[in-house]
Amino acid sequence: GMDFKALLKRNWLLIATVLSVLLGIGLGVMVREYVPLSNLHKQYFGFPGEILMRMLKLVILPLIISSMITGVAALDSELSGKIGLRAIVYYLSTTVIAVILGIILVMTIKPGVSQTANHIDRTGTTLNVTTVDTLLDLVRNMFPENLVQACFQQYKTKRQELEPPKVVANTTTIPPLTTAISAVVENITKDYKIIGTYSDGVNVLGLIVFCVAFGLVLGKIGEKGRILLEFFNALNEATMKLVQIIMCYMPVGILFLITAKIIEVEDWEIFKKMGLYMVTVLSGLTIHATICLPLIFFIIVRKNPYTFSLGMAQALVTALMISSSSATLPVTFRCTEENNRIDKRITRFVLPVGATINMDGTALYEAVAAIFIAQLNDYSLDMGQIVTISITATVASIGAAGVPNAGLVTMVIVLTAVGLPASDVTLIVAVDWLLDRFRTMINVLGDAYGAGIVQKLSKRELERMDLTSDVDVANP
Ligand code: ASP
Repeated sequence: GMDFKALLKRNWLLIATVLSVLLGIGLGVMVREYVPLSNLHKQYFGFPGEILMRMLKLVILPLIISSMITGVAALDSELSGKIGLRAIVYYLSTTVIAVILGIILVMTIKPGVSQTANHIDRTGTTLNVTTVDTLLDLVRNMFPENLVQACFQQYKTKRQELEPPKVVANTTTIPPLTTAISAVVENITKDYKIIGTYSDGVNVLGLIVFCVAFGLVLGKIGEKGRILLEFFNALNEATMKLVQIIMCYMPVGILFLITAKIIEVEDWEIFKKMGLYMVTVLSGLTIHATICLPLIFFIIVRKNPYTFSLGMAQALVTALMISSSSATLPVTFRCTEENNRIDKRITRFVLPVGATINMDGTALYEAVAAIFIAQLNDYSLDMGQIVTISITATVASIGAAGVPNAGLVTMVIVLTAVGLPASDVTLIVAVDWLLDRFRTMINVLGDAYGAGIVQKLSKRELERMDLTSDVDVANP
């Protein structure tokens, strides 16, 4: 029937996306080998992918606003409180599990012990971000002073306003590799603004807090509130229709995204040098995604977690290709709602929050990277410092925005907390573009499992609501 057709169509898109990844890799390798390209030509290769990114980012704003407001309004305030609390408990506990897993792996595999930091070129920055700064900024961002500005303002930390960060090179000799790295560091410093959950100039966290409050009061002003609510419901449905159209373009965009990336990467040798470190991060992410999260899901939901993961495939491939939880959000919505049949009242409420603050992959990565850097520096960590790393890695993952390389920037918090030089993020910059993709994928998977788990925990309340209310605002 209809359902089977829809299923085929969805799988067709997934197959097309996976094929386009493979084609993109093939095309990238071929062009790299046989076609000498100027920078201008490289830009042409990246263009179709750039358009995909722009379209995905474009729908984030209406999507977050409409889904948060209708999501909250569809529940009563007591139930949204309960659901919110359940989500937060899930986010925190899975993030901490990821951090502990990362620490165990990096302490066993010891990827940094055989090499020393002295053999690796580095440049320095004078970034000073403390955990307290991050926490204060996080809370500050929850209360934007201007709603319109929150939609596009560039982010600055309070401290950055007081003392703008400077980049200084503290190496005496500057080999070619270092020049490339210091360019990246300069970029990081510029992107320092992404600490504090700003995604591409949108204060997502601030908007979320506002929409939760707004959705709550909207349910309390009676008939007049209903009109606005209908408006936001329509906005949400229309935006999701747009997402559906964008997804048809996805295979094309992704093909060229990956082609352009392969053409662009300059240093493949670094992967050999950093091999063991990458193996540590990737195996941690794999264990978290295939054992930890599925186990928790199975214990609570009592359904096959791998079927659930399979339902998320399109979102996972997207995350892998674009390294951004925020920009993947539209696809995450579609997969959780359409394939995994999660109640819209739950997804609308918990997915935007999850994409912003729940980052298991990033937390695991930050813990591994910090201890790896300690090992490179031959710096032994005591138990207290390891606990500090777990706490700061958790905070850093919450504070990181859902945009590419955000986790690398918030690393600074973890490093400074245990007395390691913040400038040592430069040691791991070169391979971050690859690791970022995989940790983003795990971040998205964690958000999706969270929606499934919170739905199960709230099942009774949701059913009771269905019985008592005749109008279902989220599913009209
Ligand atoms: N790129 C990641 C995300 O969007 C954040 C990170 O850099 O770890 O989820």
